[in-house]
Amino acid sequence: MPESAAEWFDRVSESLSSDGPRHPPWTQWSTWPFDNDELSARALEPPQPEAPRRGAGGVDCEQCDRRSEPSYIFWRDDLVMLGAPFQVTSLPFVAFLMPWRHADLSDLTDDEAARMGQILMLAERAACDVLDIPRLQVFRWGDGAEHLHWWLMARPRGMAQLRGTFLPMWDDVLPARDPRDLRSDLDAVAARLVEVAGGTTTAGPNSASTQ
Ligand SMILES: [Zn+2]
Repeated sequence: MPESAAEWFDRVSESLSSDGPRHPPWTQWSTWPFDNDELSARALEPPQPEAPRRGAGGVDCEQCDRRSEPSYIFWRDDLVMLGAPFQVTSLPFVAFLMPWRHADLSDLTDDEAARMGQILMLAERAACDVLDIPRLQVFRWGDGAEHLHWWLMARPRGMAQLRGTFLPMWDDVLPARDPRDLRSDLDAVAARLVEVAGGTTTAGPNSASTQ
């Protein structure tokens, strides 16, 4: 039988007290964003009741409430949408792929899941057609907000130092980009996405649509 969260915590805590934490060689990696060599793991806190997430049940959900705002949603169709980040960023491409309807990952209908997978693939194709990037990085945590949002990020082509799991940290520590420049790039990707996937941009006077 799989161990419970409490059993996991007890076992790991016992091991930590005897052997201490492991020391992954992150600071030796060429992708480590910081110049510090000393890292110490925080004390492990016991499991607690899961905190309610923002927008739980579709109530006061920021993604739902703002999905009609062209300043937020830069591409959409009947099932899925692409949103610009609320916070400032530094990378060539940062966006969110989300269902139009309020749903978490395991709540998607077959049609939503199929279209989301297709758009995930075509968004990379469109972004790589338009921007000087090698690929999109994709991740989903879902610990803060309930409305499913895949993070889509890309580093500039050839920026080997930004490869891998530290990319979100690099996005936070590098100088913030003018949000208008990011939006201009997102709109260019959206226009290309309309060509390869249909849907509608929300870029304003220059927006394109095939549906
Ligand atoms: Zn929602």
